[in-house]
Amino acid sequence: MIATGKFCSSCDTEVFWALTEHLRPMLVDAEPSDDGNLQVVEHQGLVRSRVLRPEQAVGLTRYQSHFRSCPKANQHRRRKTTSKST
Ligand SMILES: [Zn+2]
Repeated sequence: MIATGKFCSSCDTEVFWALTEHLRPMLVDAEPSDDGNLQVVEHQGLVRSRVLRPEQAVGLTRYQSHFRSCPKANQHRRRKTTSKST
């Protein structure tokens, strides 16, 4: 678990930002998930996420996108701006 002290503004789940392979910031659940499909690594001070194929995920700690688990994900998607929320 990655302790961030940051919580989703919609549902209060602890989350963190990770950069995708396409260098897009995405919200990831701080709590690992057994059916998550993301590997999270810290590299040079940046938190990066990588989508795993099922055969790659064996034995790894997996995380999932908060957009997948957030009960209010629709609110996130509706918001088009990329301004940072605190
Ligand atoms: Zn949420």
